[in-house]
Amino acid sequence: MSAVMEPLTCNAAEYVNHILNLVKTKNPCEPEFHQTVHEVVDSLKPVLDRHPRYQKEKILERITEPERVIMFRVPWFDDKGDVQINRGFRIEMNSAIGPYKGGLRLHPSVNLGILKFLAFEQVFKNSLTTLPMGGGKGGSDFDPKGKSDNEVMRFCQSFMSELERHIGPDTDIPAGDIGVGGREIGYLFGQYKRLRNEFTGVLTGKGLGWGGSLIRPEATGYGCVYFADEMLKTRKDSLEGKVCLVSGSGNVSQYTVEKLLDLGAKTVTLSDSDGFIYDADGIDREKLAYVLDLKNNCRGRIKEYADKYRNAIYTPINRKLDYNPLWDIKADCAFPSATQNEINAKDAFNLLKNGVKLVCEGSNMPSSLEATKAFIDAKVLYGPAKASNAGGVATSGLEMTQDSMRLSWTREEVDARLHKIMIAVHENCYETAKKYGTPGNLVNGANIAGFLKVADAMLDQGLV
Ligand code: NDP
Repeated sequence: MSAVMEPLTCNAAEYVNHILNLVKTKNPCEPEFHQTVHEVVDSLKPVLDRHPRYQKEKILERITEPERVIMFRVPWFDDKGDVQINRGFRIEMNSAIGPYKGGLRLHPSVNLGILKFLAFEQVFKNSLTTLPMGGGKGGSDFDPKGKSDNEVMRFCQSFMSELERHIGPDTDIPAGDIGVGGREIGYLFGQYKRLRNEFTGVLTGKGLGWGGSLIRPEATGYGCVYFADEMLKTRKDSLEGKVCLVSGSGNVSQYTVEKLLDLGAKTVTLSDSDGFIYDADGIDREKLAYVLDLKNNCRGRIKEYADKYRNAIYTPINRKLDYNPLWDIKADCAFPSATQNEINAKDAFNLLKNGVKLVCEGSNMPSSLEATKAFIDAKVLYGPAKASNAGGVATSGLEMTQDSMRLSWTREEVDARLHKIMIAVHENCYETAKKYGTPGNLVNGANIAGFLKVADAMLDQGLV
């Protein structure tokens, strides 16, 4: 019990240790949640020293406790007529600055701890976007891989039959994440509309013909590359001619590659959970169009890229290795865009050994705490996910605005707003890092800037 004993007033380091012990004790067996809380509260020490009110008002105790956790049964029939049962979740983490907002993830690895980590990250990320959005996240351990369209539809309808009572356009607005793209959002939206008899902007990532926004599919990848460009500008450098490693081959990866092509860089890798391809010639627009069709329409595996483009080398995942050979390829920039903890300390060391200049995170928390420390110590440009991948949710915010106004902006207009937001997110992180005594450390900059806005709103709104 001593781990959770309430401290009298203590210094920032002691308070942070207390919070970490408290979170571990209250949320056992949730290592990803512990990891993200560790990273954030560690960054906050200079803030806590300067502003004792946050400790006095127990802001860290409050911000690490979700406002609401919903867990539910999702029953559905598969194509054989057999009953299937999955578990559904929605974490409504924090609504201090706006309605809960964050994606839904469908992947067999989904559990409470992973969704709490994602919801916690989302609170700070949404705060950084400059838009009024609180943080949430949800999903299920359902695996869409290998399922027919009808099975996915029946699952989504069952999932929404419970979720609908907890969400709404002014309450909680889910979106896509791993395993949830246009198809799934369509089925979820259809069922919500049928149950509520309302056509509202309750989900983002909708189809263009029924309330979606241009550029939303591209936004996370484009935004991540805009952020990388801003980081490079601080060293009077650019993406022109840079060789880049991208992991994953889903939504974020695809549009990261596209924007890198626009800015004159060359991507040489893509991956999925079975392995990765290395194409030394670079993934040009024709090859990228093939990847989009392979992944979004044919729902195929990245291995097929190497069958089609014979110069590319395919390497299957080797689970016996304690590192990922994708991160051991010589390159200037790395854009991890698959999943959490995909870069461990050894991967970080390999990237640094090969002279990487920039790591910009497309996926959420792709770097372990040790890897993050290695990048910061080496003083390479390092864009932490909650800042660098904020373009997706920012554009969801723009989709919500268009839905409320009952109008659609042009592609150019949305892209210009996204670009402006990413410039502002970078500047905010950069300036905040400087102000709190760690210039260039965008991890601290993002955590502190994201925290201050939410914490001050919580103080203003009293003990709720
Ligand atoms: P997708 O489902 O479109 O693509 C995910 C990609 O990552 C697939 O290639 C998938 O391979 C691979 N992947 C997933 N899990 C694993 C794993 N455990 N090991 C190895 N590879 C894996 O998802 P998104 O592109 O939307 O999301 C990717 C990341 O970006 C996630 O961390 C997500 O939280 C984050 N993100 C997404 C946003 C968005 O707007 N979509 C916004 C902000 C962040 P396979 O097909 O084999 O599973």
